[in-house]
Amino acid sequence: MSRTVYVNGEFLDEENAKISVFDRGFLFADGVYEVSSVIDGKLIDNAAHMARLRRSLSELRMVFAMSDEEIIAAQEEVVARNGLVEGALYLQVSRGVADRDFALPKDPKPSIVMFTQEKKLVDNPAVAKGWAVITLEDIRWRRRDIKTVQLLAPSLAKQAALDAGADDAWMVEDGKITEGTSNNAWIIKGGKIITRQLSNDILHGITRKAVMRLASEDGLVVEERAFTEDEAMSADEAFVTSATTFVMPVVSINGKGVGNGNPGSVTLRLRELYIEEARRS
Ligand code: PMP
Repeated sequence: MSRTVYVNGEFLDEENAKISVFDRGFLFADGVYEVSSVIDGKLIDNAAHMARLRRSLSELRMVFAMSDEEIIAAQEEVVARNGLVEGALYLQVSRGVADRDFALPKDPKPSIVMFTQEKKLVDNPAVAKGWAVITLEDIRWRRRDIKTVQLLAPSLAKQAALDAGADDAWMVEDGKITEGTSNNAWIIKGGKIITRQLSNDILHGITRKAVMRLASEDGLVVEERAFTEDEAMSADEAFVTSATTFVMPVVSINGKGVGNGNPGSVTLRLRELYIEEARRS
């Protein structure tokens, strides 16, 4: 069945939803995006995604006229028109059509597109087994806090992981893990839950923030600091967070089992807490 896609104010069948060859999103990866999860037909933590979208736009000096209310109304309509119960809503704003030039256009007309993807998020079959990850050098640019559509490095890293028989890659810079290809990386060691501190080196995950709060509320100790590859390999538990995986156990790193090699109990508890709250809100 064809999806209904949103393009610059119009709801179109996906076959007819088109963007110009001259769109700067296509030519320069000059665009930002957000992925909000949908459970029971409702967008999860969407206000936080809107706030991050605004920050990404502003860091790239992109002025976008639509208000949050207008964007959210369009998001909800895309979800409804596609009858999406569970999955993801992808939203992208690019600087729009301009003749190709490295200088930013003087009178930009940003493009916005949205589409849905149906996915099993709550009963994700991967959770029971957990993910195997490999580590790879982080070759991305230095503003990973901006959620841009230039995703070639993480896309190649993901494929390298799949080619190696793993599920994802944890990227490494100066001996420390930055993050997964499209998720934030965490370890649990000696009762402490450790995830890298916020900076320009990683994306400021919306799920990361929610899980940090849920962990603290649950009486767990959270430490925000960078951790090494060796620390990760000798951790008791490991996991990743993102809008579409929620909390996903990591059971091996470079072929070596984490803890007892099964999804960790604290990890699974955090996943439960996250889903419970998402459903309630
Ligand atoms: N890091 C990167 C590089 C990502 O692409 C994502 C997914 N958008 C995340 C972290 C997780 O962010 P969020 O929890 O907001 O989905």
